[in-house]
Amino acid sequence: MRYGILGDIHSNRRALDAVLQRLHAERVDRVLCVGDIVGYGAEPAECIALVRDLSPTIVAGNHDWAVGDRLSLEFFNQPAAIAIEWTRRRLSREDCQWLASLPVSVVDGQVTLCHGTVHHPEVFDYLQTPYDAFLSFEALATRRAFVGHSHVPITFFEGTPLLYTVEESVTLDGRRTISNVGSVGQPRDEDPRASFGVFDDEASVLTIHRVPYDIDGAAASILAEGLPAILAERLRVGR
Ligand code: ZN
Repeated sequence: MRYGILGDIHSNRRALDAVLQRLHAERVDRVLCVGDIVGYGAEPAECIALVRDLSPTIVAGNHDWAVGDRLSLEFFNQPAAIAIEWTRRRLSREDCQWLASLPVSVVDGQVTLCHGTVHHPEVFDYLQTPYDAFLSFEALATRRAFVGHSHVPITFFEGTPLLYTVEESVTLDGRRTISNVGSVGQPRDEDPRASFGVFDDEASVLTIHRVPYDIDGAAASILAEGLPAILAERLRVGR
């Protein structure tokens, strides 16, 4: 089985288009989405429609739940909260209800999906350090997990010591693993190209793909909607 894994799209339709084109060429059997379809960017409805067309296995991100009114805006910084309120006004009631209906954790065969951590998916903490990963491995019931939220591609391997890699081609060996494939719509690892993953479970290889897209167009659409300028600027630097 070849899985396409994507998340943290953040209403960036241009980045999502570029990723979907590459994903099509990768001939994946199944799409896994680790959440945050909306927030920050200017094209939420377009991104929701494109994601739903993929019939993915999907979990909610914190921005999805905030737009769906299941998470308080007090958990967000000001530019993020402004974009969430704008997104609520922009989306149909049906789209908001769909975002609110998404679960925070899903098990699909030997794969667990969450947006934040495996041990407390409902609080949307970051899984960034080996200690975070240690706590999540204790709660993990499957061989593989994919998470989002930090927007930084990384894979953790269970064991003592608990190791990690940021390589773009990773052999997922006999050890259990938790991987983040990076962000489609707002990368934060100082590489502004869109990021997604392909996991081939027969070859046991996870490949992180980086795709150039029309960043100027995405930034211009954010400014044209009157959203905070910082949300446009950060796309250019990938932070
Ligand atoms: Zn996010």
